[in-house]
Amino acid sequence: MTNLREQYRQFGISDEVYDYGEQILTGLVDRFAKIDETAEYNQLKVIRAMQQCRVSESCLLGTTGYGYNDLGRDTLEQVYARVFHTEDALVRPQITCGTHALALALMSNLRPGDELLSPVGKPYDTLEEVIGIRPSRGSLKEYGVTYRQVDLLADGSFDYDGIRAAVNEKTKLVTIQRSKGYQTRPTLSVARIGELIAFLKKIKPDVLCMVDNCYGEFVETTEPAEAGADMVVGSLIKNPGGGLAPIGGYIAGRKDCVENAAFRLTSPGLGKEVGASLGILPSFYEGLFLAPVVTASALKGAVFAANVYEKLGFDVLPDASEERHDIIQAVTFGTPEGVIAFCRGIQEAASVDSFVVPEPWNMPGYDAQVIMAAGAFVSGSSIELSADGPIKPPYTVYFQGGLTFPHAKLGILKTLQHLIDAGKASLPCRPL
Ligand SMILES: *Cc1c(COP(=O)(O)O)cnc(C)c1O
Repeated sequence: MTNLREQYRQFGISDEVYDYGEQILTGLVDRFAKIDETAEYNQLKVIRAMQQCRVSESCLLGTTGYGYNDLGRDTLEQVYARVFHTEDALVRPQITCGTHALALALMSNLRPGDELLSPVGKPYDTLEEVIGIRPSRGSLKEYGVTYRQVDLLADGSFDYDGIRAAVNEKTKLVTIQRSKGYQTRPTLSVARIGELIAFLKKIKPDVLCMVDNCYGEFVETTEPAEAGADMVVGSLIKNPGGGLAPIGGYIAGRKDCVENAAFRLTSPGLGKEVGASLGILPSFYEGLFLAPVVTASALKGAVFAANVYEKLGFDVLPDASEERHDIIQAVTFGTPEGVIAFCRGIQEAASVDSFVVPEPWNMPGYDAQVIMAAGAFVSGSSIELSADGPIKPPYTVYFQGGLTFPHAKLGILKTLQHLIDAGKASLPCRPL
C-alpha cells in the first residue's frame, strides 16, 4: 500500500484538505471517464495522421540556413493539416506566439479597404493592438483595414440581426474566438461555431471565417474546420505543443489562406519554401503526439478546481457540472487575499521556481495590479499549471494547465490549503 496521504503531508497538505479532495474526486469518476474517452479519440487521430503522412526518423532532423527541402517541417505541416481537417498548414518556430499567428493570418489575408468583423464581441486583449482598436503602430487600421464588432447578446447567444446588419460589401474576414479567454462570456463549442459560420456564409458565401483556436485544441473530438472554418489559428505553447514545444504557432486552413500567411511570414515569392527548423522538430512532433492526453490532464484539473471551489460556496466559471470547450477555469474569491493565496498555492506546487513567492505588480497595459503564478519548463507556457488574476473586484483568478493530472491536483490542493490557512475558505463541517 502506498501512502499517498503522507506524500501530500510532505507538501503541507492537511489530512482534512486531502480527504476533501478525495471526496470531490469520487464524484468526478464519470466526468473524467468522458474526458479520457475524448483524449483516446484524439490520440488515435494524431497517430493516424502521423502514419498517413509517413512520419519517419529522418523527419526529426532539422535544417539550417534557408531551410530548403526541410522534410520534417513539411511533413509536420501535413500532419497538422490532417489533424485539423484542412487543406494545408503553416507550423513554424518563426511564428513566435499565438498573437503573432493571429496577426499573421489577419494581415496576410486582408488588404487595404477590407473590413474585419468579430461577431462574438471583443477579441483577446493582445488583438486590440493588432486590429487597431487601441491605437498601435503597424496595426491593421494603419493599413486601411477597418473593423466592426457585434457583441453577444446578454444570454451569450449570437446577435444574428446585428451580424446581418454588420456584414457589408467590404467584409472580407470574420474572426471567431473559440475560448472565452479572460472574459465572462461562454466559450464556444465547435457546434456553435459551425452554426455561426453557416449563418455568415449564407449572407456572404465568400467571406473568410477564421477561428482563434487558442486553448480549444483537443478539448472536443472535432476542430473548427470541420464546422466550416477557413482558417484555425493557435499557439504551440498552449494545447497542441503538448508542453514540449518551446515556441511556435500554427495556421491551418484553406490552401490559399495558408499560402498568403507564408508569403507574409517569410517573403513574397519564398513562402513556405524557406524557414529552417533548426533542431526543434522532435519537440513539435512529440508535443503534438502528447497533446491530447496533456489537454485532458489540464481539463481534469479545471473540472476538479470548479468542483472543489463551487462546493465551498465560491462562484466558478464554467460551473462544476458544465460541459467544457476550453481549459480555462475562473474562480471568484471576493477578496484580494483569496486571489493571492490561490496563486501562491499554484506556485508552491511547481517543479521549477517553487520557492518564488508571487506578488501583485503593476503590469503594463492593465488598470489594476496583477498577480501571476507560473513555474514552467517553457517560459510563459499556459498549458503548464498556471494562474493569474487582477487585484480588483470581484477578485477572480484564472487558472489553467497542468501537464499531468497529479500535478494539477497537487496545485489545487495547495491553493485550498493556502486559502484555509489565510482564513479565506473553510471546509464543510459535515461530509458532502
Ligand atoms: C493565449 C491566447 C491568445 C494569444 O496568444 P499568446 O501566445 O499569448 O500571444 C489569443 N487568443 C486567445 C483566445 C488566447 O487564449
